[in-house]
Amino acid sequence: MKLGSHVSMSAPDYLLGAVKEAVSYGANAMMIYSGAPQTTKRVSTSLFKIPEAHQYMDSIGFDKENIILHAPYIINLGNTVKPETYALAVDFLKQEINRAKQLQVKIIVLHPGSHVQAGSEAGLNKIIEGLNTVLNDEKDIIIALETMAGKGSECGRSFEEIKYIIDGVQNKQCIGVCLDTCHIWDAGYDLTQFENVLDQFDTIIGLHYLKVLHINDSKNSLGASKDRHENIGFGHIGFENLIEILYHPKLMHLVKILETPYINDIPPYKEEIAMIKTKKFNANLREDVLSKNEN
Ligand code: FE
Ligand code: FE
Ligand code: ZN
Repeated sequence: MKLGSHVSMSAPDYLLGAVKEAVSYGANAMMIYSGAPQTTKRVSTSLFKIPEAHQYMDSIGFDKENIILHAPYIINLGNTVKPETYALAVDFLKQEINRAKQLQVKIIVLHPGSHVQAGSEAGLNKIIEGLNTVLNDEKDIIIALETMAGKGSECGRSFEEIKYIIDGVQNKQCIGVCLDTCHIWDAGYDLTQFENVLDQFDTIIGLHYLKVLHINDSKNSLGASKDRHENIGFGHIGFENLIEILYHPKLMHLVKILETPYINDIPPYKEEIAMIKTKKFNANLREDVLSKNEN
């Protein structure tokens, strides 16, 4: 299985530090942000220690294809209200694609955007316009649109909305989907019937567009439209349902990324990855994570 979590990419070791963090969790995949996820401030990629990281990855057999980049949250291609917000989104995404190429990362996860009171149709059409501007002459890069929980004015809350965007994008080889289990659960897709959900995805969007998964439990009940992640097995989706998704034969080739919450500022990923690998729920996850820091 290609399994990991989001890891931090920060000074001084950036990509090299990110890989080492992933390896410390027992992961063979990871998701990075090219800087703080809430901002568009970015340092030069020359500081990222890319050659050192690649050398290290080669030496331990960590596959570069298992690295995913996530664009920052504040990028909003769907904003028809403020032209400068849209322009910033287009400009930043172009730069992000360049950073991805230097990192030799192929998949960039993107929150489609928010329509900010202009209505979803206006938002979706603006997102299509932005993606066509950015992806026009691209190849060897895939923007994976993340399925959203449907809070506020988020676009991409249903498979139909994601499909609508993909239909509008001209350069189809550069577009894909990131399925977030917490988000689709909160959007009303019943993951206790995963075979049904996967069939719907295939019928509406096409399974070949699925490029990466975010595996999170949810603090909220089905259809809550909230987007609050929970640790694996501790939320409303539940351990068995998440295991079924993680081990689904049609999804085995895809990278799966945990974005579950830290426990008292300590990342729980080593323990959660162990649970997933052994398929055994650990009711003492919290205690196990906390006890690590006591000695
Ligand atoms: Fe995301
Ligand atoms: Fe996500
Ligand atoms: Zn989320």
